[in-house]
Amino acid sequence: PAYFDHNATTPLSPAARAAWLRASDQHWHNASSLYREAGLTSQALEAAREQFADLLGVEPERVVFTSGATESNNTLFAGLSKCLPADGVVAISAIEHPSVREAARAWLGRGRVIEIPVNDQGVVQPEVLQGILQQHSPALVSLMAANNESGVLQPWEELLKICRESGARFHSDAAQWIGKQPADQLGTCDYLTGSAHKFGGPKGIGFLILADAEESFPLLHGGPQENSRRAGTENYPAIAAMVAALESATENIEAAQETQRQHRNAFEVEMESTFPGLRVISEKAPRLSNTSLLVMPRHDNLKWLTRLTRRGFAISTGSACSSGKEGSSVVVQALGASWEELKRVVRISSGPDTSAEDWQSLAVGFAEVGAELDAGGRPK
Ligand code: PMP
Repeated sequence: PAYFDHNATTPLSPAARAAWLRASDQHWHNASSLYREAGLTSQALEAAREQFADLLGVEPERVVFTSGATESNNTLFAGLSKCLPADGVVAISAIEHPSVREAARAWLGRGRVIEIPVNDQGVVQPEVLQGILQQHSPALVSLMAANNESGVLQPWEELLKICRESGARFHSDAAQWIGKQPADQLGTCDYLTGSAHKFGGPKGIGFLILADAEESFPLLHGGPQENSRRAGTENYPAIAAMVAALESATENIEAAQETQRQHRNAFEVEMESTFPGLRVISEKAPRLSNTSLLVMPRHDNLKWLTRLTRRGFAISTGSACSSGKEGSSVVVQALGASWEELKRVVRISSGPDTSAEDWQSLAVGFAEVGAELDAGGRPK
């Protein structure tokens, strides 16, 4: 059986598991309490913050630990809704994750969220962003570094520079970038958000990087934890596991990327030859090396998915956050696909342990399922 849904979530890495167990055994005390052991937990927590900050290239004072990217994105837009003037707007790309798009709309109101269109490869063009900055003067631009469905990478460094020139702040939802791409340059963004479970850490832990050490706009009110930026007893074991996961995911990242890219590309070549008319979304753009978003030439994605599941393969129909709703790929929709095409989208995403044989057997699985469906859909 092979797991091809790493963009939805990843298994806990051995380094993260070891760090979680160690932290749970040694530093389970409440970091806010006053006895010696609690002080040690608090020290360990601050050491973890420094290490995490270092891996992302930010100052530790900018790091707020949260329950994950969804909470972080909501905290950001809730905070902006309090500091922006009543007519202040934000601009987000047309292919943002729902936790950015829906959070921005909910906290600011639909009318204050400008959408930045993408080109036919799913990439935001600098001149398009420039036009939006001139016309609307958004206070913040939110652009995901890597897309969860197609894996498309935005030229965020160039787009960040354009935002700086116009005075707009820049947020990047880096949930899919971190652990798959080198992360130490990301700290140049004003705001960054992400989740540990996308890179081998546990679920229920993530982060929000704020623009500076002074900024504070808590979503959760209560105790003074996280420098009064996020109330609630700190989850030190999960934080320690997240840091260990990030460290281990970023070791030898270039070599890992290259191997995954070769396997993924070989799979796509084989799929294109087995299924004439198959479309690989964002094929011509820079993409995460583990991701393949396909529009099958025929048959609904749920038919492919259920038959591949029976053969032991876990794949997805676009993003996990919108699966269950047929034909709901935000990315393929933003590219102007028809309703009929949307129903044929499948997403495949590998992990560091996915082998060439796993990819090869998935291609064989698709060929067998295709023959079965063409023959009338009855399993042989
Ligand atoms: N942003 C992106 C790009 C994602 O892929 C995800 C997870 N699907 C999230 C945000 C939300 O992460 P979580 O569900 O861990 O809060």
